Amino acid sequence: MKVFKFGGASVRDGAGIRNLYDIIAGENDRLTVVVSALGKTTNALEEVHRAWRSGDSSLQSECKAIADYHLEVASGLLGDNSHDVASLAGMLSSFSGSLTERKQGEFDHDYDMIVSMGEIWSTFIVEAYLRSMGLKTRWHDIRKLFVTDERHREAGILWDETSAAVKGAFDFHDADIYVTQGFIGATLSGEVTTLGREGSDYTAAVIANILDAERVVVWKDVPGIMNADPKWLPSAVTLAHISYNEAVEMTFSGAKVIHPKTIKPLHNKKIPMHVRSFADRTAPGTVISEEAPLGKMEPVLVKKEGQILISILPRDLSFVMGENLAALFHILACQGIKVNLVQAGAVSINICADHEEPKIGKVLEELRKDYTILYNDGAEMLTVRHFTPEAVDAVTGGREVLLSQTTRNSVRMVVR
Ligand code: ASP
Ligand code: MG
Repeated sequence: MKVFKFGGASVRDGAGIRNLYDIIAGENDRLTVVVSALGKTTNALEEVHRAWRSGDSSLQSECKAIADYHLEVASGLLGDNSHDVASLAGMLSSFSGSLTERKQGEFDHDYDMIVSMGEIWSTFIVEAYLRSMGLKTRWHDIRKLFVTDERHREAGILWDETSAAVKGAFDFHDADIYVTQGFIGATLSGEVTTLGREGSDYTAAVIANILDAERVVVWKDVPGIMNADPKWLPSAVTLAHISYNEAVEMTFSGAKVIHPKTIKPLHNKKIPMHVRSFADRTAPGTVISEEAPLGKMEPVLVKKEGQILISILPRDLSFVMGENLAALFHILACQGIKVNLVQAGAVSINICADHEEPKIGKVLEELRKDYTILYNDGAEMLTVRHFTPEAVDAVTGGREVLLSQTTRNSVRMVVR
């Protein structure tokens, strides 16, 4: 059994979904197919959530645009008179209807309730189309199977409950191909949750882990995982093979190749992930697996924007080590700050972190009680793995390097 995952870009229109069918029809293995929301629907639904919360008059037109888009794609594939298109139309209109009636709840809870719908509609269309083309498919509502904690927008999987439910549902007795949603789940009490933006990769990895899949194939609108973002460095090349470790390092450094949580469930069961081009099925793509590739690795260059570099100095010149360090990290952890780099000196400590407000503002306020604080915002963190002097020059040319840290495998720099 394999798990296939299709991102929003691959299912953004009817042609994309036809291509998805071709890919699936060409497989003779059992498949679990995880699908994201069509195109940029998740962004559009975030807009709906915002408009609904703030009573913005754009709400109805935003809902209508989303409904029109889905119905156009669905009727293009299934025909105007299809029973499935009529059901979809019903789902879409009850969604916008429910927003006028429903009372607002907690912000993140409401976000999940609204934003999770993109995957419900996309999988409904994809499954109906595959079935209409004669494949033996079945749609699964992952909200009934992925049991999560209550951390809305960033929910964690409850593995015992989820394992039991997923094994029961994906048993291949009633179908050869299951189609289900990425990115979403529900709490034990049935409240819908989301797993974090771009979370469908993670869903695919969790299902693969539970079902002991042979591999996960992520179909993307790029030829594979590249050694840099080609929009940033046009000379970027596709990497044929990287290890799980390399993939984790890349995502931690800021590469937007796959969702950061994806690798662990695969690594635990040694399941390889293959990132392949949706548009060009002859392209070899990138394999991510346990083994490190043979030979010398290409330098890998990653940029993470929106950073803040904070320098923390104890007022009494006491060493930053020991108790101070524990207290510092306690403050950062309490606010859920994502720390990307730490450099300790004798009487100061530098921290580079994602500049997320209002969290950072609160941390600075807290730290100022005991320490002198200096900071640079609007910074970037650059990472060069398997570095060469040329590769470092290529990314730092003309930039002011505020801090740099070198280990055996990589150089990391905070620049502006
Ligand atoms: N549709 C969700 C998003 O755009 C999840 C995903 O695509 O993986 O974030
Ligand atoms: Mg998406």
